Amino acid sequence: MKVAVFSTKVYDRQFLEAVNSQYGHELTFFEPHLDTQTTILASGCPAVCVFVNDSLNGQVLEKLAQQGTRLIALRCAGFNNVDVTKATELDMIVVRVPAYSPYAIAEHTIGLMLALNRKIHRAYSRVREGNFSLDGLLGFDMHGRTVGIVGTGKIGVVVAQILNGMGCQLVAYDPYPNPDCQALGVKYVELAELFAISDIVTLHCPLTTENYHLINSEALEQMKPGVMLINTSRGGLIDTKAIIAALKSKKIGYLALDVYEEESELFFEDLSNEVIQDDIFQRLLTFPNVIITAHQAFLTENALHNIAETTLSNITNFEQGLPCPNKIINRE
Ligand code: NAD
Repeated sequence: MKVAVFSTKVYDRQFLEAVNSQYGHELTFFEPHLDTQTTILASGCPAVCVFVNDSLNGQVLEKLAQQGTRLIALRCAGFNNVDVTKATELDMIVVRVPAYSPYAIAEHTIGLMLALNRKIHRAYSRVREGNFSLDGLLGFDMHGRTVGIVGTGKIGVVVAQILNGMGCQLVAYDPYPNPDCQALGVKYVELAELFAISDIVTLHCPLTTENYHLINSEALEQMKPGVMLINTSRGGLIDTKAIIAALKSKKIGYLALDVYEEESELFFEDLSNEVIQDDIFQRLLTFPNVIITAHQAFLTENALHNIAETTLSNITNFEQGLPCPNKIINRE
């Protein structure tokens, strides 16, 4: 099948081409994001393959449908960037990669927690400058600390398993408790209680219209002073302005983000020679107790291989009229 692949980086192409030797699809790679300006590139392609920051709003979907596209194949799990209702109206099928490696994201999450706690980002620069002083590098034992996990699906449960091995006390909030977490001894509590008792709060739920800005000033007020907050899920879960205020007041003691609500303007690109216009993002970078990675939690060899495998198999299922378990069902 002819597939227009958007937002392609060298590593996407490498893994998709390697796996495609078994599938034989006709892949055309485009570096730009899919948006109203670039939709034309997919002309004549029955399938488009997209990633987290491609925009599949009503306008883009209508144009794609007019050009002959019938399948949207997401190379990711989250689908907050797709107007699924519109796609259904247009008789388009949307498929995704629901799981490719929960370990990749969970392990990156733990890496961020440890780096923040033990200030590894600061120690790295200091030692390279010949400064071997330990002042300001004081950390705490993870053992015995309470970690609140918001969302205990595929990623949240792996986070719980690793932290359990480190001797943390685990609490969680999820409308659908996970028996694997319960078996580990994770205690499910209401969100307000999780905020009140956790030393570390880590987000692993999808972004939906209901939980947009889940972490806002009211939520932050309920948290412990000096709390550590980690978001490797979706940027829109956090009200960044409220976070900056809480960093300034020291309510938040540590912050790590792998996602940011305005990331589509920044992430995945080399802007090192540009003047970054996003003042909110730039303010975040000024805090010594903030670590930001540019949506890289998924970036492991295992995950990229699995993404390529599931994406191409989703496309083949569609092409052959077979049922696809990874189809997104419109709930509206
Ligand atoms: P999953 O569907 O297996 O689990 C999500 C869990 O969140 C479910 O148990 C669900 O019941 C729960 N949930 C839904 N709404 C909630 C809410 N308001 N509060 C608390 N819990 C809620 O998903 P997953 O594979 O574990 O992925 C979780 C999220 O991680 C994805 O939605 C995606 O946004 C993000 N993600 C990020 C990266 C990255 O590279 N940074 C990569 C993959 C996924």
